[in-house]
Parts: sequence; C-alpha cells; structure tokens
Amino acid sequence: MRPAFRRQLLQWYARHARELPWRSRPTPYRVWVSEVMLQQTRVEAVRGHFARFIKRFPSLRALAAAELEAVLQAWSGLGYYRRARMLHAAARQIVQRHNGRFPRERHALLELPGIGPYSAGAILSIAFDQPEPIVDGNVERVFSRLAAIAHDVKSSAGREAIWQLAREHVEKGHAEGHRPSALNQALMELGAMVCLPAAPDCAACPVRDHCAARKAGREREFPVLPARASTKTRRYRFIAARDEAGRVLLVRRQEGDSSSLLPAGLWELPQQEAAEALGAVSRGRLVTRTHSIMNYRLQLSARNATPQGNIEETTSRKWHTAQQAKQAAMSSATRKLLQALGVL
Ligand code: SF4
Repeated sequence: MRPAFRRQLLQWYARHARELPWRSRPTPYRVWVSEVMLQQTRVEAVRGHFARFIKRFPSLRALAAAELEAVLQAWSGLGYYRRARMLHAAARQIVQRHNGRFPRERHALLELPGIGPYSAGAILSIAFDQPEPIVDGNVERVFSRLAAIAHDVKSSAGREAIWQLAREHVEKGHAEGHRPSALNQALMELGAMVCLPAAPDCAACPVRDHCAARKAGREREFPVLPARASTKTRRYRFIAARDEAGRVLLVRRQEGDSSSLLPAGLWELPQQEAAEALGAVSRGRLVTRTHSIMNYRLQLSARNATPQGNIEETTSRKWHTAQQAKQAAMSSATRKLLQALGVL
C-alpha cells in the first residue's frame, strides 16, 4: 500500500476512534488483558468485564499473586476459560523470570503461556510502539479485501499473504514517521466500524480508492473462508440438588475429565447419574437451555432434586447458597441453567 493509504487511514482514525477503556492508558498489562478478552468476545461485552477485572487485579503482580479460582471467577461470563488460565500462568512467569516486567522482545513474549503472534504484536506495537504487525479477524478481513486475496485466509498461503501486508504496513508507516500503535489500531478499527463482515460500508471508507475488491465490485466475496465445519450436538442432563436450607450442590470437574464439554475447573451442576449415585432424587419440571461452544451445540437440561440423606462436601463438591453460587467461577451455560431453575 502507498503512503497515501496510511495517511488517509490515520486521519480517519484520529477523527473516529472509539473511546475504549483500555485505550486511555495503554500499559503492557492493560493492552494484554484487553486483547486476550477481545480475542473471542465482542467489544461491548468486554468493556464492563475489563473494568471489573482491572479493579480486582490492578497490576500484573496482583494477578500473579491471586489464586486461579479468583481469576476464573473474575472471568465468569467471558467464556473460553483457557484464556484466563493462560493469563494467570503467564503473569506468574513474568514475575518469576522477568522480575515482573513485560519482555520487549518478540521471542521472549512468545515463550509465555497463551501469548501467540497476535498478543505479542499487540503488546509490542500498542504498548511499546514497536513496528510489529498484528493480524486479528478485522485486519484479516480488511487486507483480504484491499488486496483481493484469492487464497483461503486460514490457509498457510492466505495467512502468509496477510501477515506480509500487515508487516509492510507497520514497517513502512513507522519509517514514514507514523506511530505503530496508531497504524495497527486504525486498521483494526476500520474492520470493526466500516469494513464489516457482511456489509462493508465502502461509501464511508477512507481508503476505498486503494481497495482492489471495491474497485472490482466484489467486496462481499472476500475474505475467502474455509468451508464451515458442521455443527455437532451433545446432550447433558444435570441435577440441582437442594438441601433444606435451599443451598444447591455444585461440583468441579478436574482438568482432563471430559465427561462434559463445559470448561473443567469451574463449578457446575452434577450430571444426573452422578447426582443419583449420591442419593439425589429428581423432582419438579425439566428446564432446558441450548449453548454453543466452538462447533458444538449443547442441549442442556436440568431438574431440581431432593437429597435422600446427607451429601458430604469435598474439595470438588460443595453446597452453595444463592449468594455463593452467584460469586462462584462458572460458565455462562451453568449460570443460565441456575437462573432457569430459580436458584439465582
Ligand atoms: S472499500 Fe469497502 S471493502 Fe474495501 S476496505 Fe473499504 S470498506 Fe472494506
């Protein structure tokens, strides 16, 4: 892309950039947390979560010192809990190996748990203003249209072409005197606000004169994507055992226990067989909810139940009051079921 492309893009960004909480003080820690949250979650959903998370863990050291359980609990509602585990593990490593300071070299960042080329590029360019590329879904879409990339963008040829364009963009822009943080964020913002997946607003696009797909009237044909994997259905039946005080029994599966597709390590309702083995007899109406994870559609059902006798607590099986359940680390699927059952 020519220098005029970058000038026009940056002028547009200076006028139209949204005010987002993590943009006001782009420290490496804030950039990292926000980018990890944004990987699979919409900006609007992240806003509130980000503010609460930063309030609870205001620094990298605070995050590293926290128990994993507290981090998972603060992550509740964002989904994809692996991200929270990695965040926590990486914070501990930065404290142990780098004295609590974010490395400024790409290779050192890439050695940290959960930090891939995308997060490394975000930290280096946005927090440290280094000319390092970022490719997220927005950048991928924008470049695939600007250059009318005929390859499937998830194929190695497609990825390579897009990373190459992203690298050229930030390196040339930096050499021309522009800030890498603005160069990268402007591209992401264009994808989020103008070059939208289903309906790109080309008439309002500041770089339309540079766009090959637009010139050919084919902007909706890009990006070229792989055929979608078909959705599989899984069914799970849960039991909400309630004791006389109205507390609900929740269990926590160990990592590696794949008896359900809900994230392990979080609190959930026991599945029917396990609950019946404990002597919980189901009663009451059946509630059902559906939930999507990756390419699975989960059909979840649950009933209230009364325990016959005493169910002992263990480290992975506890009675929760409504208040405790509200604060427990659990997936949004479990939360939906508990709400439908009237527990929350
Ligand atoms: S002209 Fe249209 S397709 Fe091309 S970058 Fe702009 S919004 Fe996207």
